[in-house]
Amino acid sequence: MENFNDLGLNANILSAINKLGFERPTPIQEKTIPEILNTENDIIALAQTGTGKTAAFGLPLIEKIDVSNKDTQLLILCPTRELCMQIAKDLDTFSLDTSHLFITAVYGGANIIGQITDLKRGSQIVVGTPGRVLDLIKRKALKVEKIKWLVLDEADEMLNMGFKDEMDEILASTPEGKRNFLFSATMPNEIREIAANYMHNPVEISVGKKNAGADNVEHHYFVVKPKDRYLALKRIVDMYPNIYGIIFCRTRMETKEVADNLMTDGYNSDALHGDLSQAQRDHVMQRFRSGKLQMLVATDVAARGIDVTDLTHILNYNLPDDPEIYIHRSGRTGRAGKSGISITVIIQKELSRIKVLERITKKKFEHRLIPNGKAICELQLFNLIDKIKNIEFDEKQISQFLPVINKKLDEMSREDLIKRFVSVEFNHFLNYYKDSTDINASTKVRENNINEIYERRDKNRSKKDANLILEKTGRKNRNRNRDDQSWEPKNRLVLKSEDRDNRDRDTKKVPRIANI
Ligand code: AMP
Repeated sequence: MENFNDLGLNANILSAINKLGFERPTPIQEKTIPEILNTENDIIALAQTGTGKTAAFGLPLIEKIDVSNKDTQLLILCPTRELCMQIAKDLDTFSLDTSHLFITAVYGGANIIGQITDLKRGSQIVVGTPGRVLDLIKRKALKVEKIKWLVLDEADEMLNMGFKDEMDEILASTPEGKRNFLFSATMPNEIREIAANYMHNPVEISVGKKNAGADNVEHHYFVVKPKDRYLALKRIVDMYPNIYGIIFCRTRMETKEVADNLMTDGYNSDALHGDLSQAQRDHVMQRFRSGKLQMLVATDVAARGIDVTDLTHILNYNLPDDPEIYIHRSGRTGRAGKSGISITVIIQKELSRIKVLERITKKKFEHRLIPNGKAICELQLFNLIDKIKNIEFDEKQISQFLPVINKKLDEMSREDLIKRFVSVEFNHFLNYYKDSTDINASTKVRENNINEIYERRDKNRSKKDANLILEKTGRKNRNRNRDDQSWEPKNRLVLKSEDRDNRDRDTKKVPRIANI
């Protein structure tokens, strides 16, 4: 692997990289940085969040900006407000040692007047969501006639969100001779069309499908009956007293419901979804980032662009419509050299989806059993004891109260004292789990069936044969919905957009969510 010094970056950028603690370029950076610095080519890069793609285009482009000229030279389009703010923040840190460089982020749901004022001051780099960027172009507040570089970040996601028209209009108002850099996690035909219409012989760069952190992620799944999904979630969360993670739901409604239930049940959690105002979203995110909030219950769209590196767990309360989204979700843990666990709560009839995910990720998914009440109580109890053992206390502060405390507890034995102290924290667990039952659902029969079908398919039997096997063994689901078809083991596993819209209101175009 190359060193940052070998990529041709200037001293200011290298010094910023050094301060950031980046030791080596990631694969996408190794390929993209020299291409941007040393050629005049357009680029299409297949890369997901977590691969270091922001630095891959950000570092060389910051170097190329003419800081003596205040015209907007680089325009970056991205799908969500969160990602927009993240990119602008990253570019700010990359340009720590580059003077006279101005970066403005423009996105919906925030006061446009403030953004217009920032743009008037002159910004060589503008990062924005398509709706707001187009609005600002139309108001003549953002001038894109002189841009030299255009980055389309998460291009597939912008298309999924219905930004095609805005992207077309923006692209049409930018100069023909600019260089275009398109980053996308998937390459559907619509992306190829954009490339054919607007790019000039682009160089294609691919760094594989996996997120950078994916190797450090373990995948576990728990099988329950549909009615026990929430109960299972609570037990799983109770298994990990120090959990810091995101619970993914499929719809806003489900997100609200799960978050409300968890909060009512005393868990340190909150919801993040498109129905919240920007101020509410910012507040929730600020609490989550600072670690005050242990669990964020979120839809996929709302969680995009969240860049928290030390999440311990990802919980899939429901699997997403598209298996690739599972990969995005699980890649949010196990980052920056840390390990993480991606957990899925699944019902029996969805078990075949685990096989699909194992094929895509090339990783084994472990079937775990939800522990019974006694095991969870034990786990929580030992965690509490460890906490008591390791807690730091202020000797001076506490000693002033000790005489009174000693007097009050004088007659209690050591054993009695321990029981009482532990019970203060622990009684609600004992009560809750007192009469708990086993909620694991059986997987046996179904697992055998699935293995059999896959074995047949591996022997190159036709789909007709596989269907016959299913029919013969009475296992074909005649009411299978369109959503299930996207989990069929095939090469492209992306759902059609109309299915997506039907399944998850939150995946609809961002403007409706964020008033862009
Ligand atoms: P991105 O794919 O741009 O969202 O980046 C994912 C994370 O990786 C961000 O937190 C970056 O700060 C971090 N990152 C990017 N490049 C490197 C690198 N070469 N070494 C270590 N971390 C990096």
